[in-house]
Amino acid sequence: MKKNCGFHLETTYTQLPGAFYAYCDPLPISTPEMVILNADLAKTIGLDFSHMTVNALGHLFSGNYLPDKARTFAQAYAGHQFGHFTLLGDGRALVWGEHITPKGERLDIQFKGSGPTPYSRRGDGKAALGPMLREYIISEAMYYLGIATTRSLAVVSTGHPVMRETLLPGAILTRIASSHIRVGTFEFAAVQGDINFLQALLDYTIKRHYPFLEKEKNKALRFIEIVMEKQINLIVDWMRVGFIHGVMNTDNMTVSGETIDYGPCAFMDTYHPHTVFSSIDRTGRYAYSNQPKIAQWNISRLAIALLPLIHHDQHKARDMIKDIIDRFADIYNQKWLEMMRAKLGLSQSHPMDEQIISTLLTWMEENYADYTNTFIDLMNDEKPQGKIYRQKSFEDWYVSWKKRRDLEGNLSGHSLSFKKNINPIIIPRNHKVEEALSSANHGDFKDFYALLEAIKSPYEDRDLFESYTLPPTPNARVYQTFCGT
Ligand code: AMP
Ligand code: MG
Repeated sequence: MKKNCGFHLETTYTQLPGAFYAYCDPLPISTPEMVILNADLAKTIGLDFSHMTVNALGHLFSGNYLPDKARTFAQAYAGHQFGHFTLLGDGRALVWGEHITPKGERLDIQFKGSGPTPYSRRGDGKAALGPMLREYIISEAMYYLGIATTRSLAVVSTGHPVMRETLLPGAILTRIASSHIRVGTFEFAAVQGDINFLQALLDYTIKRHYPFLEKEKNKALRFIEIVMEKQINLIVDWMRVGFIHGVMNTDNMTVSGETIDYGPCAFMDTYHPHTVFSSIDRTGRYAYSNQPKIAQWNISRLAIALLPLIHHDQHKARDMIKDIIDRFADIYNQKWLEMMRAKLGLSQSHPMDEQIISTLLTWMEENYADYTNTFIDLMNDEKPQGKIYRQKSFEDWYVSWKKRRDLEGNLSGHSLSFKKNINPIIIPRNHKVEEALSSANHGDFKDFYALLEAIKSPYEDRDLFESYTLPPTPNARVYQTFCGT
């Protein structure tokens, strides 16, 4: 491979004790076919595939040959899945190593769907095309929305069907992440029965993600605080755009603060706080409005895992983490309020704000208003048109909001404008995603490529992409999404 395509691989992760990983090779794939290569991302991280044929790219992104210094391994981790502790690990993923970009960033490159690993349990180690394309499209959408996320570099179809409810085309996704260290990685370290493992993982993670903590007296404690802050920022962003992750198990929460593991995730159309899409979330544990509470619960799992490193007196250690975890709600509420103010074109704080926000949300809920489009309609100078907005309840709210905005204008002396990049015009609406994936399953990628273009400028009003701004018709509405693992 000429010039190694710009890959500069290192593997610092395997300097951790052997329990944290297992070397493993990807399954050979006889007839891989490129479905998509993320040329923009490749360029950003210093990769150049211009000299490669499509055929050669298929072999690279299915693991038939890998760049110099790639030595694939699966990572061990544990996790609370729907509240229950389990030992897990990459059952169908392999890390190639860490690519060092020209800017000096360290990024994991990882296959998803490349065959069984020592952690596969009963799974086949494989992935179906639909779910890998869902991860590709939604992670890219999140990136363009300005939300911290892992990204997708390529998808290859393997030519081998995988058995799920039916036979489906198989695929491999290549994922880029600032690391794959999860809350569940710390839970795994904590149950190894050797405090040195936990210390090694903490030291490694701090060096990799938060080197400014290295001089702290109580590194573990400060680490929990930082991860909590990152997660709060992330969840506030999810809430801003109506994103529902769907499987917020502790193994699907990174300590870097990036969104990871796009399974049955989806964006909400009609506003309702209890919206759930995932077919496996029968109790609504991971519903839209539960996401902050679950994030707090997950952070408390991280803190419990780290207890032995916080204080030799475990009672004291518990009090110390409690102080941190108890601050979650206040920090979250304040950031959420700030975000909602921005969605309504308010930059200063006023005692009326909470009332104005909650009245609007209740109105949206009662009237099945579209979450995304309501805010876009409010950004017009004119009062929004349309039947839904002619109700007295909306008109009353509108008057109070206008008054509140005028008040702000008078106070600041500036003309009022909405902050940029807060209210998206285009989100990957679920019916559009499902439509694209369903055609892709039949070998037609037109809708998928078109959707990918649509989500690249989510805050811009582009006539060409108007159809992507429309909520689903009742027939097209998608109520359930599947992990498809
Ligand atoms: P997820 O819900 O996708 O985050 O996966 C939870 C766990 O199940 C992880 O340990 C995955 O590696 C594992 N897993 C998911 N799908 C498969 C599969 N097809 N084969 C083996 N392991 C899998
Ligand atoms: Mg996962």
